[in-house]
Amino acid sequence: MSFTVRILGSGSAIPTSRRIPSSQHVMCCSRSILIDCGEGAQLQLRKFGIKFQRINHILISHLHGDHYFGLMGLLSTMHLLGRVVPINIYGPPKLESIIQTILEAGESRFAYEIVFHAINDDFSGKIFEDEKIEIHTFPMIHKIPTHGFRIVEKSKPRKLLADLAKKDDVPVECYHRLKNGEDVKVGEILYRSSDYTEQGDPSKSYAYCSDTMYNEQMLKEIQNVDLLYHEATFVEHLKDRAKETKHSTAMDAANIAKKAKVGKLLLGHISARYDSGDIHLNEALTIFSQAQVVEDGDIFEIE
Ligand SMILES: [Zn+2]
Repeated sequence: MSFTVRILGSGSAIPTSRRIPSSQHVMCCSRSILIDCGEGAQLQLRKFGIKFQRINHILISHLHGDHYFGLMGLLSTMHLLGRVVPINIYGPPKLESIIQTILEAGESRFAYEIVFHAINDDFSGKIFEDEKIEIHTFPMIHKIPTHGFRIVEKSKPRKLLADLAKKDDVPVECYHRLKNGEDVKVGEILYRSSDYTEQGDPSKSYAYCSDTMYNEQMLKEIQNVDLLYHEATFVEHLKDRAKETKHSTAMDAANIAKKAKVGKLLLGHISARYDSGDIHLNEALTIFSQAQVVEDGDIFEIE
């Protein structure tokens, strides 16, 4: 089952023709998830052919405008196009009243339900789980309460050694339990899971950390993830500005990626003052070799 991350917006506060503000679309085990919804996100969803009525979860990291000013527009379009399926929104408690205030001001209501899940300032833990995936959240260090997210596939069942099972006449009804690691007794015969199955595929994971200053406290939350998106608003010549505004440099992000032993690092939330991400990339590569500066529209498959 595929696990992809599509970058919709890789810029920071000021939109440019090259980078719109933060937003990403994640498909994990057919679950369609939007992370942040900066201005212009719905146009990017259209441009990249993402069926936004299928989005069931929207995760909002914090209430700086470049992370959610596109949300009301998207919710409104979903309504106008006939959505009736509820949508889950996870974010700071104040977001719920902001949505209500905007609706009330326009004497509007949506035909679908918004199921709001407030994430309190210091909360760390699981915010969603079903049979295939889990979504976790954890605090960042930024100017206002901000959260990162980790999306993980649940551990996968063991794989049946089908040829051996057939050869030994293992009853087909036993396969499911054997794959779940159980030994199964049929009459006098004991079929051991370890004899008839092998390790399943490893479960994959993705973490999103934006916005944040350099923060080693979050290492435990993102340890060994396959793919990490970490903001890199600035490069080293503005590291004082990064500290002052509680953002990160590309080298901060690379240090976090290295310490967390992630598979690959994506750098984004690039300040509009930079024409390209070349300096970000060169600085990050001095610390962590598996780094890439993302562009709007990039898609990454986690394998
Ligand atoms: Zn911010």
